This record gives sequence, structure tokens and C-alpha cells, in this order.
Amino acid sequence: MKIERIEVYQLDLPYSGGVYHLSGGRTYEVFDATLVRMVTDTGIEGWGESTPFGGTYIAAHALGARAGIAEIAPHLVGQDPRSVDRINDLMDSVLVGHNHAKTPLDVACWDIFGKSVGLPVCQLLGGSTGTIMPVISSIHSGEPEEMRQRVADHRARGYLGHSIKIGASDPALDAERIRACLADRQPGEFFQADANGGMLVEQVLRLLQLLPDGVDIVLEAPCASWRETQSLRQRCSVPIMMDELAQQDEDIAQIIAQDMADGIGLKVSKAGGLTRGRRQRDICRAAGLTMSVQDTVGSTVAFAALAHLGQTVPAQNLRCILDCRDMVAVTTASFDAPISNGGVLVPDQPGLGIEVDRELMGNPVQTFT
Ligand SMILES: [Mg+2]
Repeated sequence: MKIERIEVYQLDLPYSGGVYHLSGGRTYEVFDATLVRMVTDTGIEGWGESTPFGGTYIAAHALGARAGIAEIAPHLVGQDPRSVDRINDLMDSVLVGHNHAKTPLDVACWDIFGKSVGLPVCQLLGGSTGTIMPVISSIHSGEPEEMRQRVADHRARGYLGHSIKIGASDPALDAERIRACLADRQPGEFFQADANGGMLVEQVLRLLQLLPDGVDIVLEAPCASWRETQSLRQRCSVPIMMDELAQQDEDIAQIIAQDMADGIGLKVSKAGGLTRGRRQRDICRAAGLTMSVQDTVGSTVAFAALAHLGQTVPAQNLRCILDCRDMVAVTTASFDAPISNGGVLVPDQPGLGIEVDRELMGNPVQTFT
């Protein structure tokens, strides 16, 4: 089997909640999505997506994704998409880094691989655990009572986890946000206070002093740098998950070597696709880390990829998956994975199990043959 043609599509995905507020005064209203359609000489095709969370989240942006694909794609034509590790070696040999550009190409290869053998991607990644995966909401920073209401809305829709965005102002207001969001806590629910790397150590320590004793939260990505995170780690007892700082395989190795955190946000486009996502999953599992399997944001195509990866993480290690479908106002594909009984199960269909809305895609912005 050979890759014959690679088409690139661009779509704007409006944020479903209006304006998304993040630490440091960052705001987002529309996400610029890049989707890849990879066609093989057998007629089997695969899809992948890369949607950065704007250009101010991590070092990834939408134009960069498409420019990176333009560098890489011509080299992939003629290659066997099922040799996923070799595809990634080849991508690395023509472009260093740029994981977000490699992601849709890698994911499309897995989609093709699955369809070619009639198996879902999660089966190729090691097999489904068969466990319903809890989903986590993304509660952008706002007024405490208004955030509490959004938590309630997600609770009513079956979300067990809530990622509360903090760091958008002073520690006292962040403490109020956490208090409000936890006020109606139900059995089995979990809460992550996510600063997206936006707080100083001094601010986090003040925040923690303002919280009630024994409050059950995980601190996610409290600080921007490794040094700050390590300093905080040594000075507080709250579990820490890393996210924005945990990108490359070697970042995960460093987290483990220095015991910097108790888990990571494993985002598919941050890792560079499912091939690297699989490797990071295994490194985390070996080290006993908790994983929250996500993507930076994205439509149903991105969600399907992260859901297949999440489906292979043993339940004890899997904190949750992010239902990014809920964050965007556009549905790019059908994917039979509704939230029910406390979470999501991926469908038993070949490849990613998605049917892309071709009409919505329009014409490709780039084609490589
Ligand atoms: Mg995060």
C-alpha cells in the first residue's frame, strides 16, 4: 500500500461558549483547524486534524501546521502509511519538531491502517480496555458563580470531571472560583485547577493557603517554567499534573527523572500524533503517572483520535478524556461515541470510525501528489 495523495483543508471552528478566557489575559473566540485527507493507491483514505489553541497556548499555530505539512507531505507520497514508526522517522528527517504539523499526517496513517485490516485504531494501539472513559469539561475563567453554573450544566450532560481555569487574576479570586465550582460536588466527580502555566510560585502558594483544608483538587500546569514547577513541587502537597511543559517524549522522561509531577495532560497534537502518543502513554504507565488524554482543542476528527488513545489506557491511569467536540460550534464528522453512563466508549468500527462531512470541508487549500 502506498500514499498517493495528501489533501489539506482549513476550517474555522468558533468556540461554542463565546469567548474563552485563559490565564494571563489570553482570550480565544475561533480556532483555526487544519484537516488532512490522505488517499492511498488501494482507495482507502484516512483523516487527521491539528487545531492549535491559538498561537499563545504552546509554540504551535495554524499557519505553522500548514507550512509544516507542506515541508513534509511531498516526502510521504509513495510511502506505506501502515509503517507508522517509519513514517514518523521520515517526518523527523525532513523537519525537526513541529509536532502539531506532524499530527494530522500521523493520525491519517493510523486511520488508514485500521481500515486496511478492518480494526478500530484502539485495537492497533494495544486494544480497548472496554472501560467507559470519564469526560472532563473545560470551564474557562470567569466570575465564580457563573463558573459554578457552567460546571452544573456540564454535570447535567454527564461530565464527571471539571477543569477549572485559574490564574486570570489574583489568588483570592482564584480561591473563590475553586470554592464555587466545588460547592455542588457529587460523588465520583473530580476537579482540576488549571492555570495553563500562568501563575508564579508565590501566587500558587497564596492560593493554596486560601483553600479549605483537605480540598480535593489537582493542580494542573501551575507555572510557566520547569524551575518554578520544581520549586512548587517541593513546597506543596497538592498533586500536580503537567500539561504545556510536557510535549516531547524527553519532557516526560524529565518529569519522571526529577519527580516533577503526578501526571500529565497527554494531548495528541502536542505529542505529535498517535505514534508518539502511544509511546508517551507507555512511558507514563511504566512510571505510574496519571494521564488525562486530550488535544489542544479540535473538532470530532481530533476527538476520535484522542478517544482511541484514551481507550487503551488502563482505567487506574486514566484520569479522563477531553470532549473537545463540545468546545467548538462545528461538527466535522459523525462519530458514534455519545456521553452516556458517565463517559464515552469508542465505537467498534474500522480506523477512527468517523465519517467526515466532505461538503463542509470545501476545496483543499493544498494538495500533494
Ligand atoms: Mg491543561
